[in-house]
Amino acid sequence: MDTNIQFITACLDKVLSGGEISRKEAGKLYEAGEKEPLFLMASADKIRKTFCGDKMRFCSDVNARSGRCTENCRFCAQSGWYKTGVDEYPLRTPEFLLEQAKKAEEYGAERFGIVTSGRGQSDPVQFDAIVKAVEMITKETKLSVCCSLGLLTDEQLARLKKAGCQRIHCNLETAQRYFPHICTTHTYEEKEDHIRRIQKAGLEVCSGGIMGLGETTDDRIDMAFALKSHHITSVPLNIFSPIPGTPFGKNKPPKPLEVLTMFSVYRFILPHTIMRVCAGRETALRDLQAFALAAGLNGAMIGGYLTIAGRPPEKDKQMAVDLGRQL
Ligand code: SF4
Repeated sequence: MDTNIQFITACLDKVLSGGEISRKEAGKLYEAGEKEPLFLMASADKIRKTFCGDKMRFCSDVNARSGRCTENCRFCAQSGWYKTGVDEYPLRTPEFLLEQAKKAEEYGAERFGIVTSGRGQSDPVQFDAIVKAVEMITKETKLSVCCSLGLLTDEQLARLKKAGCQRIHCNLETAQRYFPHICTTHTYEEKEDHIRRIQKAGLEVCSGGIMGLGETTDDRIDMAFALKSHHITSVPLNIFSPIPGTPFGKNKPPKPLEVLTMFSVYRFILPHTIMRVCAGRETALRDLQAFALAAGLNGAMIGGYLTIAGRPPEKDKQMAVDLGRQL
């Protein structure tokens, strides 16, 4: 048997029998996957089926406050540091957010995220409005509510939990080593502290990152192990899309097979986690979008992304059904 296939099979057997692959094995697995991408993807998908089943997890987000962010994340359309021409608007009303949630429920999302630009929530009036929106959505829909509101205080986390929010989103974005290359106004350590405080507040954490910010393969694998060490239950995986006007505006997105090979390695490292393909999938994966699910992922964000339009949700549902997934 080919040595790459042999190695992938040995890692697969290890994970299927309840074992864990080491950091070193994950690096070798990626290298083997570069030679045998389809075999690696099929193996990752076997892990997905064994530990997560066929249920497809769809979530949807609303950009509740857009632009003018004080932070300088170099990939982001909403940073106030760059001229990106992004739509800027103040916080949407709770009624507007409820209306968007109902639409998301109608088109098949099981979770709904309220997202705001900004480092955190410094305006108590705006935060009250967000809490009200969480209460209204929890009461008037069957959706699970998530919030992505920057770095929150313990008191704010407790209020969101009381209002019915189940999960807080806080992306690590990339590896600890590389983080200062993508943002200098807040730190990776602040994010890790936030994740620990979210969990302490009794809330779940959704945390992932973006592939293609200029990081190395090792950085991508390190991020997966960091997510594992924080016991993250939901991992959104975005693929970099260049936003004109940002410092990364002329960078190129990674190639489809490079992304899919890494997604597969993530499944080996995080066999039980819900992993979702999110922003950038249409442009970076092109005709290979469905392969993200075939490479071990079991979720997707539908209905568009914060500042980027997505394809119609019906197409994503059809893609999942055609792959034998349950909605
Ligand atoms: S990623 Fe978030 S914190 Fe960073 S600039 Fe964009 S909106 Fe601000």
